[in-house]
Amino acid sequence: MKKRKSHMKWSWMIIVSFFVLGIIDIRFGILGIVCMGAPIFHALKGEGKVHCAKYCPRGSFLGKFLERISRNAPLPKFMSTKKFKSALLLLMLSMFSLAVFHSGGDFTKLSFAFYRFMGMSFLVGILMGLLFKPRSWCVVCPMGYATGLIKDIQTQKSIPTID
Ligand code: SF4
Repeated sequence: MKKRKSHMKWSWMIIVSFFVLGIIDIRFGILGIVCMGAPIFHALKGEGKVHCAKYCPRGSFLGKFLERISRNAPLPKFMSTKKFKSALLLLMLSMFSLAVFHSGGDFTKLSFAFYRFMGMSFLVGILMGLLFKPRSWCVVCPMGYATGLIKDIQTQKSIPTID
């Protein structure tokens, strides 16, 4: 894999801009699809967790702003288990599918669903970052976990990437 420059020093601005734009006009919430899809896209390209390491606006925000105010306590062990992460991934997928279904294809409602989803996970991430280590959310993050699963499957089965 080619060496990539890290954008983690400034990419937090993207997620802050996203939330501000959503307040101005909720239809910007649809951009949440980029944030949620980017890690999966990179993983499907065979780039593993490059998004988490080099680009992720959420990871960048948590690492930059919570470092000094976090309790820096270790995450409870059960949260690092595969069972917990799989359950969280399933829960988030179900909640998200329901929200998309209830939007009935209406663009504004769909945008709101993305915005709310991004907002909720962002708040949980901040809370976890304050209680435990700053980027604790990254341990359980459904998108990060899904990219790891994709990577594992590609490695085990030598599945071709989407270049
Ligand atoms: S684990 Fe999730 S929040 Fe953390 S860097 Fe990866 S995609 Fe971003």
